[in-house]
Amino acid sequence: MGDSRREDRFFNRERETMDWERRKGDLNTRFLKTFRHACENSTAYRDIFTSSGIGVSDIRSIDDIEKLPILRISDLVDRQKRDMPFGGFETADFEEIRRIYINPGLIWQPGERDYHDTTWAEALCGVGFKEGDRIINTFNYHMWPLAFMLDESLRIIGATVIPTGVGNTLMQVKIMQTLRVTGFIGTPSFIMTLIQRAEAMGLDLKKDLCLETALVGAEMLPESLRSRIEDKLEMTVRQVYGTVFLGCIGYECRHMTGLHVPDDMLVEVVDPHTGKQVESGATGEVVATNFNTYYPMIRMGTGDLSMMSLESCPCGRTGPVLKRILGRVDQATKVKGTFVHPWQADEVISRYPEVFKYQVVVTREDHKDVMTFVVELREEISKPDIIRARIERDIKELLTIKGTVQIVPPGTIPDLHKKIEDRRTWE
Ligand SMILES: [Zn+2]
Repeated sequence: MGDSRREDRFFNRERETMDWERRKGDLNTRFLKTFRHACENSTAYRDIFTSSGIGVSDIRSIDDIEKLPILRISDLVDRQKRDMPFGGFETADFEEIRRIYINPGLIWQPGERDYHDTTWAEALCGVGFKEGDRIINTFNYHMWPLAFMLDESLRIIGATVIPTGVGNTLMQVKIMQTLRVTGFIGTPSFIMTLIQRAEAMGLDLKKDLCLETALVGAEMLPESLRSRIEDKLEMTVRQVYGTVFLGCIGYECRHMTGLHVPDDMLVEVVDPHTGKQVESGATGEVVATNFNTYYPMIRMGTGDLSMMSLESCPCGRTGPVLKRILGRVDQATKVKGTFVHPWQADEVISRYPEVFKYQVVVTREDHKDVMTFVVELREEISKPDIIRARIERDIKELLTIKGTVQIVPPGTIPDLHKKIEDRRTWE
């Protein structure tokens, strides 16, 4: 297999493998510097912290971070509307801004004159890219920042980038073949498109192409798709996770133990409603703080659910690992005081191959929440009561609250349905 040929790669091995307590000390210093810089130079942060009753002296170390409110993308958008264009989050003068990026929904983002974020560079090395690699960057170079951030980061690690952007699949295959491209950056679905195109053109994927490593992101990567690509091309496919405002929040090394948090990123997993950190290993929302000196993001909520672990990885990296991304906070629903996430419902139903389709419906009867799993079966079965009782038992076990199962005729659940439908009204 591709990855066994390769060794563990690092952007800065010494830092990434340093004793975690020492790294934490450095994070503390960088966090305090960022916080104080934001208090001094950003009108938005000054306003946010003051209205939460927090003064500069209240935050003495990283241990005080939970006192700070979670920054939501909606807050950023609101403030950008009131204070054009950057909402007062910027801590640098306009002359220091090299580009203005435009994110979907006309959310503005300043790009600094000298790019020095190393989180993506660390991820590029972590997934296996190296100096001298020739890499096609198939993220969109128009308006939004991700392609540029990765482009700059490839310069930092000494690789050569071919800025192809999205689309033009025929040309992209010819580019890969002619330039003997060794790496791919883009979405999992786009690399699959390119592979299918190359096959349709009659190319021998292993002989005519030289792809060794792919860094994929911006979409979920099904394990079945990963192994299909890895087998077809004898290459390594690794995922990154991040947001354009924060930077890279996690990346997979070749051992795939989870998503390593880059050295220059501070990540917490919190209860989305209280903003307090959850215990290690518990599920919560990923909240991150970067150390950007011109547009810092302090305790920005990503809306993604994950869990953090400090278990060691064979690659030798210290520091936290995010286990896989489990879903979105806003898709979770509180039923009888307990959060129900779509992935938990999936976990219950995945035990029953007999189930063709399902939907969780939450209603209210006599001021009490009622949760019903509406289920369509693949085919009629002789004793539906048995499967109904088994699913109800698993709901209780995995979701810790009671739910009932209603078996409905095929075609009852619409094709495009929400996994959890909340039909409660609150009058
Ligand atoms: Zn690792």
